[in-house]
Amino acid sequence: MSAGSNQMNVAVIGGEGIGPEVTTQARRVLSWFIAKRSLPVDLTEAAYGLEAYRATGEVLPPESRKVIDAADAILFGATGGAETKEVPIEARKKNTLLKIRKSLDLFANVRPIVTQPGLYEAAPLKARVLEGVDFVIVRELSSGIYFGEPRGIETLPDGSRRGFNTTSYTTAEIRRVARFAFELARTRRGKLCSVDKANVMETGVLWREEVVAMHAAEFPEIELTHMHVDNAAMQVVYRPSQFDVMLTDNIFGDILSDAAAVAAGSLGMLPSASLGPVDATGRRQAIYEPVHGSAPDIAGMGIANPIGSILSVAMLLRMTLGQPEDATLLERAVSDALAGGARTADIVEPGAKPMSTSGMGDAILDALERLAH
Ligand code: NAD
Repeated sequence: MSAGSNQMNVAVIGGEGIGPEVTTQARRVLSWFIAKRSLPVDLTEAAYGLEAYRATGEVLPPESRKVIDAADAILFGATGGAETKEVPIEARKKNTLLKIRKSLDLFANVRPIVTQPGLYEAAPLKARVLEGVDFVIVRELSSGIYFGEPRGIETLPDGSRRGFNTTSYTTAEIRRVARFAFELARTRRGKLCSVDKANVMETGVLWREEVVAMHAAEFPEIELTHMHVDNAAMQVVYRPSQFDVMLTDNIFGDILSDAAAVAAGSLGMLPSASLGPVDATGRRQAIYEPVHGSAPDIAGMGIANPIGSILSVAMLLRMTLGQPEDATLLERAVSDALAGGARTADIVEPGAKPMSTSGMGDAILDALERLAH
């Protein structure tokens, strides 16, 4: 927020692969709210990834870092893909998305999974399994095996090689994300399922002990259950409607949310928010982005589903811009567009003709116009 005003800054970073394609549609939708609802929001584009590297020799040029640091929120697309091998590993490593999230201390990754009745026909799961699915995966994002040291690939005395990573969690890391999840459950149906691998991993044992202790001390009214991650992987496709808030660590949350995407109809449907701690002024750093990656297999074809990115705008409206009614309006517009038959290739019924990425953007903007009048 600019000093002395309530003007907010949102950085828009398309990134790589289908990132720029879907983010363009999300930006159109956000611009609609800024214009129609007179939201005090400035949008600033920032370069990240292969194109940025080609232009400046840096994956995250200093200009982009400045935009990120001045932002109240970041709307991000995606990163990765085979062609990005043009970027030397060292330049890439300096500024991975993981490092940007870490530099902003984004520890809570929020991934809502909501089924759309309009998509039941096209879904790989039966309608009775999809009925009433509405849950949120809270994934710890700043620690665990993706960051643990030591890590590396070493050559052993016999000439063979050994790759190794470290899973580690401190009580503070577990407690802050657990508190976030308990508080979220309090605002929903009051149920929290904590997922771990306490039967074989020490980090899982500690995770469970901390969650149990916090439950007893601070959140006794929440219905707390525990599940091993292998069972959870089965349950998110077997009976996803049983969940309200699911709390889990970094790698488990990464994997479980892709599995849960089957219930939502496609990976392209899922939004996310990555949130940091609340500071003294009540603000928190945040990145809003679709759950999917750069989808190199369809990048540049104009066929990617932009709904994950567009629903990330709804999360931004709700969680950073403080506009819950606008967020609900946008979610309704997405449901209406789907109910009206809007389909990209990933969610189309067999034999039907899919629309383009921008066609889906048009359909959602049309639905917004209709709802607003
Ligand atoms: P992916 O999410 O990019 O794609 C998986 C599958 O889902 C692909 O078949 C893809 O075409 C499809 N898909 C994904 N998004 C879609 C959309 N919006 N519309 C239609 N179909 C969609 O995962 P991947 O293939 O495992 O990874 C590709 C690259 O993305 C890798 O370099 C990976 O590291 C990176 N990645 C980045 C992020 C991120 O930016 N946050 C997340 C995951 C993976």
